[in-house]
This record gives sequence, structure tokens and C-alpha cells, in this order.
Amino acid sequence: MNINIIGGGPAGLYFAILTKQSNPAYEITVYERNGPHDTFGWGVVFSGKTLANLREADAPSHRRITDAFAAWDNVDVVHRDQKISIHGNSFSGIARLQLLKILQERCSELGVTLHFKREIGNVAKLAGSSDLLIGADGVNSMVREKFKNHFEPTLNVRPNKYVWYGTNQLFHGLTLTFRQNQAGVFAAHSYKFNQTTSTFIVECDPKTWTKAGFENMNEAATRAYLGEVFADDLNGHPLLSNNSKWINFLNVKNAHWSHDNLVLLGDALHTAHFSIGSGTKLALEDAIALKQCFDETKDARSALTQFEKVRKPVIEEYQAAAQESCLWFENARQCMHLDPLELAYEIMTRSGKVDEESLRRRDPAFMHAVNEERAKRKAR
Ligand SMILES: Cc1cc2nc3c(=O)[nH]c(=O)nc-3n(C[C@H](O)[C@H](O)[C@H](O)COP(=O)(O)OP(=O)(O)OC[C@H]3O[C@@H](n4cnc5c(N)ncnc54)[C@H](O)[C@@H]3O)c2cc1C
Repeated sequence: MNINIIGGGPAGLYFAILTKQSNPAYEITVYERNGPHDTFGWGVVFSGKTLANLREADAPSHRRITDAFAAWDNVDVVHRDQKISIHGNSFSGIARLQLLKILQERCSELGVTLHFKREIGNVAKLAGSSDLLIGADGVNSMVREKFKNHFEPTLNVRPNKYVWYGTNQLFHGLTLTFRQNQAGVFAAHSYKFNQTTSTFIVECDPKTWTKAGFENMNEAATRAYLGEVFADDLNGHPLLSNNSKWINFLNVKNAHWSHDNLVLLGDALHTAHFSIGSGTKLALEDAIALKQCFDETKDARSALTQFEKVRKPVIEEYQAAAQESCLWFENARQCMHLDPLELAYEIMTRSGKVDEESLRRRDPAFMHAVNEERAKRKAR
């Protein structure tokens, strides 16, 4: 079988690994437009459950990923200079570049052909010479665009602006920090992903963005401004840029997931707002699901039909939770009157996936403090 993959991100590389590992005779080629060491962004996070799935799917890459991890169990919410920690949430962070290196190395070991600096323009031609063609070319997928009449994508640009920085200030937990100034409300999503660096994503609503004057600010001035907004949190460390620019989150859905021998995977197929930290997890788990469908069916067409059937409901559930979370951050300014404990509770339950009972199981002391605060407020 001849499999071609457009895009050497987590989805494409991991599908190549899983398929080559159990079918060494298959010819599998990944085409990536960037070089092996180029990437955007800083670190990505995984939950404990994702790691168990990765271990089962491919033990060597799982071991290398977990060796490189920074792990933690707390979500910290910072509001009005007070930090509330909620424990019992198992997360790990890894540099995106390191994750890609591990996956690239594993591909090479197994005999997957990797072509870097090879941008594919003619999808139809490559599809014609493939038994299976995977469009794993990310959120702005050219494959999806070229075959949009078949995939029928829905692309929804969200109003908030966000920018993805790094910093050498270490945030030992998934830290959500809220700061206000005369322009409005800023939220930072930060977490440590190795011994020296944290991801630091800043998000704000369009009103705040306009009032702060970012439209006419260059990259250095923007970083300086946001460094000032989060000065108390960054502890003197500057924000680090990796070609970091303001963007709007793009929500991607597709009515159909495959067309003939062509299938979309990862961000090309679906996105889930970064505030639930699931993009890379979903990309890797897509690869696991698609590989399983090939194991269970006899030909490519049935495998692709099966993939959409079993995976779509899972993705829809994540996207629904991610949408709630995204909306919460878009309306964060309405919650700034809450005291830090109540805000932390609102944040933990925002996606509808966590309720009071599960919070009590995760961190009884936190729920106890929330209820005490509520009782005091009632008494007042
Ligand atoms: C601000 C922000 C924060 C995030 N935080 C997290 C997080 O904490 N945890 C998490 O799990 N996820 C996070 N994500 C999401 C995560 O980065 C993506 O979901 C994940 O990388 C998707 O993997 P992928 O392989 O589908 O796509 P990508 O990683 O985007 O890979 C696609 C690849 O295709 C290549 N390509 C594109 N077009 C072509 C072409 N024509 N020819 C050849 N190659 C091509 C690209 O160069 C790219 O390397 C975040 C995203 C953002 C924007």
C-alpha cells in the first residue's frame, strides 16, 4: 500500500508511525513544507488519559515523550493578586518542537520517508498516485480548501484576539491569570513545559484590543505593553517571541471527512479552542482512531467511512466543551466582579465537563473553601 501524507505535524507523523509499525511493507511518505527544526509556538499540554492512549499505541514514542515532560496536577487561577490552586488535575507539558523531533525520529527508525521543505500544491495529482492520501496540513488546510465542495467545511472566526509567547518565568501548573487596565481585561494561559520555559498565551476581547491600540503597535511595543500588564506575574522575565502575532481562533468543522482515497486529519479536520488544551491530543488520537479503522476493515474506503462514524461523535463532544470554554473567555469581562474563589469555580466548571461533585473529588479543600465563601456571602 502506498500512503502519502501532506503535513508533518503531530497528526501526520503519528499516523505514519502507527501504520508503518504494524505494516513494515507499506510505503509511507510525509511531505512537510517547513524544515525539521522549524515550528511555531512553544509548549503543548496533554492530560493523563491521553498519555495512556499513547502508551498503548506506540510504547517507544510514549516513553520518549514522557521522559521529556514537565508534569503537574494543579490549575492556578490568579485574580486580584490572589492565587487559587485547584489540585487533582493531571496535566503534562512538552515543547512542540521536542514532540515533533521525537515523532520525526521514530518515523525515521521505522522507515517512513520524510521530505522536508516540500510544499504540496497539486493535491489531485498526489491523490492519483496514492492508495491513501492524508490531508494533515493544519488549521489553514490547503487540502480542505481545494476539496471544499466535498468536505463542506464550516469555518468560524472567533472575535477574541490571542498571541502565543514564551517566558523564562516558570508557571508550575496550568495558570490562568486575569489582569485589568484602562483598556479592559487580559487573560493569560501559561504553563511550564521544560526546565527553563513556559508557554504564555495572552487573550483579550476585541474592545480591549482596540482600546489598547494594538492595531498600530509593532511587535516589540506589543510585547512591552503586555509585559507591563502582567509585570507582577512575569517576575522581571520578558515575554519571548517566536514570530508571535495576534490571531483570531478559527473553529473548524467538516460535514464530510473523506473523499475517495483522501481523508483529513487533526486541525485540518477540526479544531477545539486552545483554552481546553486539546488540539495536539485530538490530532494524535485521530491518528490512533484512523489506524484502528484500517486494522478492523478490509479496504481503504470502508476504513474511512468507519473512521468518520466512530470518531465524529467524540470530536463533537470535545468541540461542544471547547466552544463553552471559548465563549467563557470571550465574555470574561462579565466575571471580573467575582471574588477569586468564585471566579476559580466558574473557570473550572466553564466547559460543562466538570461539575461540583467531580471538583469535590479532585480537591475537597477547594470545594470546602468555595462553600465557606458562599455561606459568608449569604450571611452578609
Ligand atoms: C495558541 C495556541 C495554543 C495551543 N495550545 C495547545 C495546547 O496547549 N495543547 C494542545 O494539545 N494543542 C494546542 N494547540 C493546538 C495544536 O498546536 C494543534 O492542534 C496541533 O498542532 C494540530 O496538529 P496537526 O498535525 O493537525 O497540525 P499542525 O501541527 O498545524 O501541522 C500541520 C503541518 O502541515 C504543514 N503543511 C501545511 N500545508 C502544507 C503543504 N501544502 N505542504 C506540505 N506541508 C504543509 C505545516 O507546515 C505543518 O507543519 C494550540 C494552538 C494554538 C494556536
